Order: sequence, then structure tokens, then C-alpha cells
Amino acid sequence: MTFAALKLIDPLLRALQELGYDDPTPVQRQAIHAVLAGRDLMAAAQTGTGKTAGFALPLLQRLTMEGVVAPLGVRCLVLAPTRELAEQVYTSFRKYGAHVPLRFAVAYGGVPIEPQIARLKKGLDVLVATPGRLLDLLRQGALTFAQLQTLVLDEADRMLDLGFAADLDAVFAALPPQRQTLLFSATFPASIRTLAGQLLRDPVSVQASPANAAARTVRQLVITTDKKSKPDLFLHLLRERGWNQVLVFAKTRKGVDQLVGVLQQEGVRADAIHGDKPQPARLRALERFKARDVQVLVATDVAARGLDIQGLPLVVNHDLPTVAEDFVHRIGRTGRAGAAGEAISLVCADEVELLRAIEAVIRQVLPREEIPGFEAAHRVPSTGTPARAAQPAGRKVSSKSAPASKPGVKPVLKPMPKPPTKPAFAPSTPRPAGGFDPATPERARPPKRVPQGAVVVAGGRGAKSAAKAAAKSALPAPNKGPTRGRKKGSPA
Ligand code: AMP
Repeated sequence: MTFAALKLIDPLLRALQELGYDDPTPVQRQAIHAVLAGRDLMAAAQTGTGKTAGFALPLLQRLTMEGVVAPLGVRCLVLAPTRELAEQVYTSFRKYGAHVPLRFAVAYGGVPIEPQIARLKKGLDVLVATPGRLLDLLRQGALTFAQLQTLVLDEADRMLDLGFAADLDAVFAALPPQRQTLLFSATFPASIRTLAGQLLRDPVSVQASPANAAARTVRQLVITTDKKSKPDLFLHLLRERGWNQVLVFAKTRKGVDQLVGVLQQEGVRADAIHGDKPQPARLRALERFKARDVQVLVATDVAARGLDIQGLPLVVNHDLPTVAEDFVHRIGRTGRAGAAGEAISLVCADEVELLRAIEAVIRQVLPREEIPGFEAAHRVPSTGTPARAAQPAGRKVSSKSAPASKPGVKPVLKPMPKPPTKPAFAPSTPRPAGGFDPATPERARPPKRVPQGAVVVAGGRGAKSAAKAAAKSALPAPNKGPTRGRKKGSPA
């Protein structure tokens, strides 16, 4: 099937041709027709499936064919959980809409609000925004939703994870009830199903890939070692395997900075991207990484959300994420749009419960390897029996039950016999209710603390103090969950 067969108009087809997109991806094939017909959509589509074009193309077409925007008006609103994803979606709209006469803008916290207000004056066909900053703009009377036709929730699960529920409710209350709503989510926990029930009318369901399944095209491997050996092991692998573009995930901002420091000392072109860095510095690091001026980009989960790096060959998990679903998002940075990719996780004994939880979510027991000279003195206990793979010469099998995988050979991974209904998160590392994380300053405080009907904005100026105050009053006791305050070493 071609894009033309989906009845897209010429200016859009021209943009797709210039981008080198030959055929629609499965999610695009399913979504474009339904969105053009004005239907609501519930899409289980993880990042890398081409979901953005799946909603952007038909919306651009509808906006082009139907009317014009009035001053301060917004015709299509896309909500995204992080600045990076918002920026990414905005860029996609601009790319796909290069030949249609529409106005686009993006708005998120952490940068001055005035240019965003100025941009809204003439009205916008498409506004991509994070919920906190959007509420800030609304409160200042910078926009109206009288003309709103379509609401898109992108990565809805992540928005709830990050504690945006109250912000979202406040936004929904301001929208006209007669509208088209599209909901995209990588996972469908009960909270998302409830949200979908409230927002969607007779939605078309789109399933681009099974929920919680890791990208099929990504070859995965666990390398077991000791915690303290991880930086040296990474450096060793970088050199031995000649990695020239690698996105690395570390758990904390402090961990990111430490690893970047070690790499830079060794002459590696490395840069960091995390919540303590100002937005322009984050974007600059990303651009330099995409241009291959930076060889290793080290990131935290929140900062890396929405990163789209064309043809990224490799993701390395220097530390495992504390939330198992984040693993799916991490490895989804590679193997995008059907391309091949590789994801390597360095795992120490402390992380075995995290590994077990991740394997439950992705329904695979990952193959393991140990690298001579970096063997784990503290053995990483077995989590199950991965599929048999030939043992490559010169590599050591790590544990009794974990045969090594052969480089270049895609491991055949067995599904686990009984997938749990709920991800088995490590009991010692729960995500706090409301998911308060001041590293994303445009986000509001946890929903439980928000009085009924109140609009809390933590974006832009005052965000840090609001975040600190909320952190003081709302954080769980330290022994009940991870600290989410702005001290060094907290997850970002
Ligand atoms: P997304 O899942 O929307 O983040 O898209 C993942 C990547 O796939 C992006 O780099 C897109 O530019 C690319 N992409 C989207 N649709 C297509 C297509 N039909 N053909 C080739 N690449 C695509």
C-alpha cells in the first residue's frame, strides 16, 4: 500500500517523498484512514512505529481542507509528557506540513513564555504542548479553545506516570466537548483504560505492536559485571567493538555526569542530557550527537523521552531503569521504523530484581554474556532460562543457566510461560504515587495534593520553588519510595 492509496493530498505526498518515506508503516495504515474520517482513536503504538505521522498526516490534511484559524484560536492540540517529545512532535508536524499553509508552534516550560504568547496571537492550526505550560498559557488568556477540533494525547501512559493527571483534567475541562480525540499510549494499564473511557467516543482501536513488547527488531543482550566495573567495562566495549554512535542510559543525573566525566577524561567525545541541564544545552547536545560530533550521549530516562535519532544503531543501559516500562522506551530509541538495532544492558547483582521485572514486562529472558576481565565477583542470579544460542569463541558464559549469544546472530528468545498481569516491580524501588519529579519543571505537583478545581502550574518562572515546596510536602517517606527531590543523584 502507498500513501497515495490512503487518499492523502498532494502537498503531503510531496513532503513524504522528500523525506524518503516509501510506504506507510502498519500504524499509519490503520490510523490515517480513521483520523481522516473524523473518528476517535485509541492506539497502542510505542515509539519507533511511525505513530507521529500516523496522526500528523491526516490531521494536517483535515486542517488544510477545513477552515482557517482566528486570532488566539487553536484548532489542534497535541499534549506530550516531556519537552523533548513535544519538540520532536512539533518538528514532525513541520516536516510533514512543509507544503501546506498552516501555523504550528510548540510550548513547554523551562524557557521564557513571552515568545510562546506572541506566537499564539494570530492563532495556531497546531499547538504541541506539555500540560503544565499549556495551563500557564491558558491562565494568562494567551489562547482560546473555541475552535478546537482535535485533541491528541501522545504517550498518555507517560503523562500519567509523570503525575500530570490533575493538569490533564484541568485542560480537558477547558476543551469543547464536541471534538475528535486521539489517544496514543505504549502501555494500557487500568488508569489509561479509564482515561480512554472518559474521553473517547466509539473509538477505532489501533494496535501497532503488542503492549509492553520490546521492539521486535532490537537484538538484546545483558552483560553481567560488578557495579564498580561498569564505567571501565563500557569504555572497553566502546573501544573493542568500535561503537561510534551510542546512546547510554544512566539512572541518575549524578551518574550521567560521572560517566561523561570518565569518558571525556579518556578522550571520548561524550555529552550529557538530563533534567539539570537548560533546554538549549540539551538540544545542542542532541544535535551534536545526531551530527556525530558527539560519539556517546549519556541520558536519564525523562530527558531521553521522545528522542528520535534516525538510524541509531545502539542503546546501552549503563544502569537498569527502576520502572520496568522505561526499559521498553529506552530500547525503542534504536530499531526505529523497522531498522535493525541493538540494546546492551550492563547488569550487576544489585539489579537482579529490576532485570526480573523487565523480563516479565517484555516477556523474554534476555541472553547473557560476561566479558573476560570484567566478570562479576558478586554473581548476578539467574532469572530464567533464555533460548539456547551458540557460545562465541573467547567469550565466557556468565552463569550456569545463561548461555552467551553470538555476535551478529539474532537471539531466538522464548516467551515466558506465564506472563504476570501486573509488572513485578522491585519492591524496594516503587514509583511514588503521582510520580512527582521536579526534573520536568513544566509538570505540576502530584495530583493527590491538588484541591478540586484548582489549576496548579509549575512551568516557567517559579517552577523550581513550586516544585521544591511541593516536594517538601508531598514526597513519600524515604524508606517508602525513591527520593524525587532535586538533590544530586535523583532520577531525572
Ligand atoms: P515515531 O514512531 O513517530 O517516533 O517515528 C519513528 C521514526 O520513523 C521517525 O524517525 C520517522 O521519521 C520514521 N518514519 C515514520 N514513518 C515512516 C515511514 N512510513 N517510512 C520511513 N520512516 C518513517
